[in-house]
Amino acid sequence: MDKERRMLLKTTAAVGASALAGGAAPAVAQPAADILFVHEGSYIPVVGSNQKFQVRRIYCVGRNYAAHAIERGSDPTREPPFFFQKPTDAIQLAPEGKTIDHPYPPVTKNYHYEVELVAALGKGGRNIPADKAFDYVYGYAVGLDMTRRDLQNAMSTEKKPWEIGKSFDHAAVVSDLHPATKLGPMTQGAIWLKVNGQVKQSSDLSKMIWNVAEQIANLSTYYELFPGDIIYSGTPENVGPVVPGDVMTGHIDGIYEINVKVV
Ligand code: MN
Repeated sequence: MDKERRMLLKTTAAVGASALAGGAAPAVAQPAADILFVHEGSYIPVVGSNQKFQVRRIYCVGRNYAAHAIERGSDPTREPPFFFQKPTDAIQLAPEGKTIDHPYPPVTKNYHYEVELVAALGKGGRNIPADKAFDYVYGYAVGLDMTRRDLQNAMSTEKKPWEIGKSFDHAAVVSDLHPATKLGPMTQGAIWLKVNGQVKQSSDLSKMIWNVAEQIANLSTYYELFPGDIIYSGTPENVGPVVPGDVMTGHIDGIYEINVKVV
């Protein structure tokens, strides 16, 4: 059944229900609009099911491991969490058992990996209390917050938004989602990234300055959160560059490893 016909049926049903209830007549339905330039949404498969999670927004936490905060030139003891976003269509899926091709983006000469735990929300709200916030997580994934570091740094130096360093096609690599019902709250576990088999980043989720629940609590004071929002929860220290030909492997305990070849 096409969309217009479904709309018509819905409208007819609504009129019928309204008439039966004796309510005021609903506004006359407008003819269905012709949508120009229709785009697919971004969907993350859920492991062990045929379900897909539709991504609404991508939030990212900055400098959330003390040693990474220090390498980025800030004091980890005094900084509350801060956030930025990536466009939803920057998602690049990294399925299990497959090495995906990841295009080296334009303009940059210093392209960096950041391996991160990704939390996907199954519930939304405002001012979510931290002690309840893990209940809002539908699932977890391992992701890469890919970064045009030279552009990010140049913008930061000039006190301009660092958008072009973080927001571009394929900048949000992500594995399939692993349900939180199976993993539990992700507060500890190894997180590492290898390039061409060599360990580059290696830490533990317990070293996050703000854990996922605290991130959700803080973020929800700035934005109303919704099911479908995902949060890249920050990277450990030792971020670094990749060039075409490099293969990155990202790992978080309990989640399959992702393999990403820069091309
Ligand atoms: Mn990051």
